[in-house]
Amino acid sequence: MTIKIGILGYGNLGKGVECAVKHNPDMELAAVFTRRDKESLNILTPGVKVCSVQEAESMKDEIDVMILCGGSATDLPVQTPEFAKCFNVVDSFDTHARIPEHFEAVDAAAKEGGHVGIISVGWDPGMFSLNRLYGNVVLPEGSDYTFWGRGVSQGHSDAIRRVEGVKDARQYTVPVEVALKAVRDGENPELTTRQKHTRECFVVAEEGADLKRIEEEIVTMPNYFADYDTTVRFISEEELMRDHKGIPHGGFVIRTGKTGWENEHSHVIEYSLKLDSNPEFTASVIVAYARAAYRLSKEGAAGCKTVFDIAPAYLSPLSGEELRKHLL
Ligand code: NDP
Repeated sequence: MTIKIGILGYGNLGKGVECAVKHNPDMELAAVFTRRDKESLNILTPGVKVCSVQEAESMKDEIDVMILCGGSATDLPVQTPEFAKCFNVVDSFDTHARIPEHFEAVDAAAKEGGHVGIISVGWDPGMFSLNRLYGNVVLPEGSDYTFWGRGVSQGHSDAIRRVEGVKDARQYTVPVEVALKAVRDGENPELTTRQKHTRECFVVAEEGADLKRIEEEIVTMPNYFADYDTTVRFISEEELMRDHKGIPHGGFVIRTGKTGWENEHSHVIEYSLKLDSNPEFTASVIVAYARAAYRLSKEGAAGCKTVFDIAPAYLSPLSGEELRKHLL
């Protein structure tokens, strides 16, 4: 019997989930739900149902796990608790500071409906969070470092697009090599925001726009760029489409620490990701957690969980026996 997956929201992540389901033979895509005109979506899976979000509740018996693919800013805080009443749900909520309140809202709704909700699944939060936790418990005497990039930050790209005279833009977050090296060498540096990452902006300006002013507005933008060394390069629309179409990302989680009676031995734990497609990788993590949500629900569990609460074996299609034989 396959696990029937619903996708709610068909943007980059929704499409990524569709691809990931294809690569997991124990799953099938039951339906895609959207708030837009359903005729306007270009769904890849032949014959799959495309429905409006309003139809979802009436289809609750056809879906084992609903994967919520909306944005973290305004979609998921509303949609995840709402749909957790009727479905097992997984989301990729990534506003770190608001995870505790999101957890509370989803927990109450999932318990009310008797379902499992797994929130903040992906790579950060997600796989990076797990690696931070493993690093901390293995090396309690130590320091944590997370570097992001080289990769596209959608939020920062959007912020540049809001500057007057900007037609389109792509922003890359780039880790500072010397800082990474110092951490890997066990120097335990204390790094400021500026010392850890730089920001590279590729900007298409509207014709006749004042480029000097645009650059100044970008590099001094509070919260986004003012605390970083930021470079701005103006390029043509064709160059943007040709060289900056993808959504790559990645980064490093590093824990350095000491062991021994006198702390005489040093250790470095490093987890690294180099992703060609941020949404496709995020989606691949999410579908593994959808499998866990399905299994936990079958066991009678209810309520909200994060990656910290899911035992690794629940993520795999292999049996315990197979896992012990091949992967232990
Ligand atoms: P998108 O902006 O591509 O899609 C978000 C939603 O926008 C869609 O679900 C869709 O819902 C709606 N939408 C409206 N108009 C359009 C349109 N013209 N084309 C496509 N979608 C449209 O966001 P992403 O999919 O890139 O990212 C979703 C979230 O994933 C991010 O907000 C981020 O929080 C999270 N994320 C988490 C990561 C992690 O590691 N935890 C990593 C990467 C992302 P509808 O179909 O209902 O209109």
